[in-house]
Amino acid sequence: MTMADSLTSGADQAPQVEGSGILRQVEASNRSAVVLNIQRMSTEDGPGLRTTVFMKGCSLNCRWCHNPEAVSAKEQLVWHQVRCIGSKVCDAVCPEDALARNGELLEIDYTRCTACGECSDQCPSMALETLGRRWQLEDLVAEVAKDRAYFEASGGGVTVSGGEPALRAPFMAQFLERCRELGLHTALDTCGMCSPSALQSLAGCADLVLYDLKEINGDKHARFTGVSNERILANLVELGEQMRHSSLPAELWIRTPLIPGATLSDDNIEGIGAFIAGNVGDVVSRWELCAFNNLAGDKYERLGLSWEFDGTPLLSNGELQHVAEVARGSGVDPDIVLTTGRAQLEGELDGEASKPEAKTAAQADALAVGDTPLKSPAAG
Ligand code: SF4
Ligand code: SF4
Repeated sequence: MTMADSLTSGADQAPQVEGSGILRQVEASNRSAVVLNIQRMSTEDGPGLRTTVFMKGCSLNCRWCHNPEAVSAKEQLVWHQVRCIGSKVCDAVCPEDALARNGELLEIDYTRCTACGECSDQCPSMALETLGRRWQLEDLVAEVAKDRAYFEASGGGVTVSGGEPALRAPFMAQFLERCRELGLHTALDTCGMCSPSALQSLAGCADLVLYDLKEINGDKHARFTGVSNERILANLVELGEQMRHSSLPAELWIRTPLIPGATLSDDNIEGIGAFIAGNVGDVVSRWELCAFNNLAGDKYERLGLSWEFDGTPLLSNGELQHVAEVARGSGVDPDIVLTTGRAQLEGELDGEASKPEAKTAAQADALAVGDTPLKSPAAG
């Protein structure tokens, strides 16, 4: 029995009564899932060039989330005002009467909109976009396999991210297994907030797990993300056990988003470091400290939401290096600590983006393939 099989027949699944509507429903949901985006040539979700499949739906609701369009599991319609030429084709085709004009603005009544896609299909200037598209399993496998040449040249592969891919565990497990059957390197990017069996099954199909540890204090974690971190910490401990007794996942990276006014504190970094050292220090090969980026405001705006971090500056290079020093002194192997993302730097004033400093040869290699400015666990 494969990992995917064991998950499909596992305790987390709805009862599979042959011939019943429930079975048909489970089978259907396991063969397709809503994907937010397929991002090619990513250099930040694992080694080499990656094709990252972002799933829709998340089990957390982080205040700083850089992928707000990934939090809801449903397809969502958004309007890009700058592209709108005012043709009003969309108003005419909507079967739900969900669109209304307010002067220059198009207002979407989300209580009526079913995200059927009629209006975005008809819009001549692509000003309406449906976020999320349902993919059949084999179509998705074929899509990512197109990038095999890039994977082979760069040592890259496929990463599943989100949102939280473990919320679609049966589908994701089959997807990862199919990718591995094709010889593709696989990575799971998870926030860890899922059932132990879902995580175990997905991790068992992944060469690499990227695991977010955002905040060590349970009360603060609940304030920042909507839930306490007990399950996340317990799942990480279990994942360590899994790694000690099986070949997959072969590698584990921890990622911590550095969010000003939230996760960015010496106490948090020291606490996370102590937890890693005490529980999974023997199996973790990298701890990424991911600098806050401030580029998500327009995404919130398109969804009709405001973002409390709008206008928050990037960390300074000094702040980033300080956090790295705190992490290296927290009890983990100092060589696994790495900073990623952009910082404000003096050099930036001259138009030169800052790069985190590599302290070891391994880190220099990692920076060469893993340091890009936008997506980080801070992003999802
Ligand atoms: S997605 Fe469908 S229901 Fe929603 S506004 Fe467009 S046409 Fe109407
Ligand atoms: S930051 Fe990540 S874990 Fe948090 S809500 Fe966004 S997608 Fe989910």
